[in-house]
Formats: sequence, structure tokens, C-alpha cells
Amino acid sequence: MVNALTTNAPSGGIEFHNVQISDPKDFEVKLKPLYTGICGTDRGEVHGNLSFAYNHPGYNFLVLGHEAVCQVIDAQENEYGIKTGDYVVPVVRRPGECVNCRIGREDNCSDGKKNEAGITGLHGFMRDYFFDMPENLVKVNDRSMVREAVLTEPAKNVMKAFEVFDTVSRRSIFQNKDSTFIGKNCLIIGSGSEAFLYSMMANEYRFNVYMTNRHSLEESKLSILEKTGSIFFDYTSGIPLKGIDLLIDTSGDPATIFRFVRTMNNNGVAILFGTKGNAPGTQVNGEDIDYIIERNISMVGSVDGSKKHYLDALRYIEKWNHAHNSVIGDLITGTYSPENTEIFLKKPEGEIKSIIKW
Ligand SMILES: [Zn+2]
Repeated sequence: MVNALTTNAPSGGIEFHNVQISDPKDFEVKLKPLYTGICGTDRGEVHGNLSFAYNHPGYNFLVLGHEAVCQVIDAQENEYGIKTGDYVVPVVRRPGECVNCRIGREDNCSDGKKNEAGITGLHGFMRDYFFDMPENLVKVNDRSMVREAVLTEPAKNVMKAFEVFDTVSRRSIFQNKDSTFIGKNCLIIGSGSEAFLYSMMANEYRFNVYMTNRHSLEESKLSILEKTGSIFFDYTSGIPLKGIDLLIDTSGDPATIFRFVRTMNNNGVAILFGTKGNAPGTQVNGEDIDYIIERNISMVGSVDGSKKHYLDALRYIEKWNHAHNSVIGDLITGTYSPENTEIFLKKPEGEIKSIIKW
């Protein structure tokens, strides 16, 4: 028996209770979650808004949680070098049988038959302990950032999206004639934790980084952006930039996306990352299509990331954590106990990333 935060997918609900989960398989490592992050996906499941979520086969519930940092409690010797006492981040997606899954790119699964811990058919990480294969764990080398490492899972999405950008932008010359991106504009729609992580990565590329939403931003969030040199604007009171080279959407709101696609520069790249199945639609007219075609604009979706992207994410979190004026720790705006199920129902004021301490 183990204490776990569960939902009934896809209908929803949230419960913190003692549940029975089957015995570990051979070679599995025993893991104690230290921190788990809460995101829009978890809240969507709890509210019953995530139609593609489903319970772990053989159970009438699903343990929540796909963002975690854990300590290895017990491990046999293994080829991945995972040892008892290590801090690790478990990966979310587990491969199916398609060609992309077989080459470690389950983030690009071809037939949709992968599983996602805490989301689609596989118990998640929000429980006192669980068992997993060492191949599904990414080691956190810098033990001083155990709390910040809970951001690895959201950050790996950012690493993958920038890999997509690198690939797509190569179809023409996207850079300046000095080979840099200096002076090019990156606009990020949304102001949640993913938006902040995207802004930090866009800074690494030396874009002029803008973030926008349909409301003003709390002082605490503005001060984080200021430290990273990014600019926020409320688009309902005007748009201060002309010409977007890289547009990244974390909102999933069609009207907002198309509002900004119409201000993109030639050869621009728009990366769609945010999902919001219940967002109202928008009218896309022939002029919008002409605009996209005439300017060679690429619109591309990007989801999840592979183990390589978890490693990249950890490397950047470590770098950002040691930076002068580091803001990475400030992205964690609240630490809660698992008994406090309210935070799944209502977003705390000023939230960037809420986490649970186990
Ligand atoms: Zn697959």
C-alpha cells in the first residue's frame, strides 16, 4: 500500500489516499519522489478536461504526476550507472513499437501507441514511492539543485522545441549575415512556467525576447523577466513590437496565435506548444493563408522530448542555477504538501510553478 494522489481518467476528480499497486518487476529500481511539479495537464485531468487521458490498465484510477525529481532508495547494479542515493528525474513517455519509439524518439511517436506516466495508461509519480527501470531515469549530477531539478520535465519540452526550430529554420538563411540571431524578435505567448523557460532559452540564442498575455503581469513575475532582459506586454493594450521572427505559443488559443502570425517576418517560424482543447475557434481567412505562403512562414507543432532533451534541460538548469542573478529558483513559487489537493482545483495567486514536497 502506498499514499498517492489519484484521479479517475478521463472523468476527473482528485484524492489523496492509500492505494494498492502491484509488485515491482525484476531489475526495477525503488524511487522516493522528493518533489513533483503541478501543471495545466494535471489540472486538466482533475477537472475532467483531458479527453485523451486514461487509467492504468487493471486499475480504476490513475496516479497523477509527470514532473518529478526522486531519490533512488534501492538499485541493483545496472548499465545506466543508477545507484542507491542518486537523485534522478524519471522520463514521462514510454515507447511503443513504432520506428521512432524504437530509436529512443518516443517524443515523435508515429502511431500514438506510447504511454505517458500520470497521463495516458501509466501510473504517475505523485506517490510515496514507486518502482521503475533504470533506463527510464536521468541522473541529476549537481546535487545542490535537487529542488530546481523538478523543472527538468517542463524544460525538456523547451529543448525539443528549439531543436525543431533549428531544423525548420535551416530551410533558408534565418540568421543575420554575422551568423547570429542578435536583433531578431522572439515572441512567447503565455506567462506560465513553460513560457518563462522558453524565454530563458530564447535568451541563450540572443533573440530580443518578448512575452505577452491578455492581462498584466504580477510584479514578482515582471521582476524575473527584467533580470533575464525579457520584455512583457499586455496585448489587449497594444503591441509594441513589429515583426516576429520566432513565435512560440504556450496558450493554445487560436485567436491569439493568428493575431500574431499576421505580424511575422519573412521566413519566420511559429512553434505551437500550448494545448487547450476547449478554446474557442477563430476565423482564418484567405488573406491569412496568403500571408503565411507569401512570407514562407513555417507553423510547426512540438510535443514532449526524448531522453537527450532531459539531459540538455539538466545542463541548462545547472547553468542557470549558477548564473549571477539566477532566477531559476524563483520560478518555483509555492511548495505544498500532498494533502493540500486544493491547489489542483485552483491556481494559487502569482503561480509560475507549484510543487509538492513528498
Ligand atoms: Zn511510437
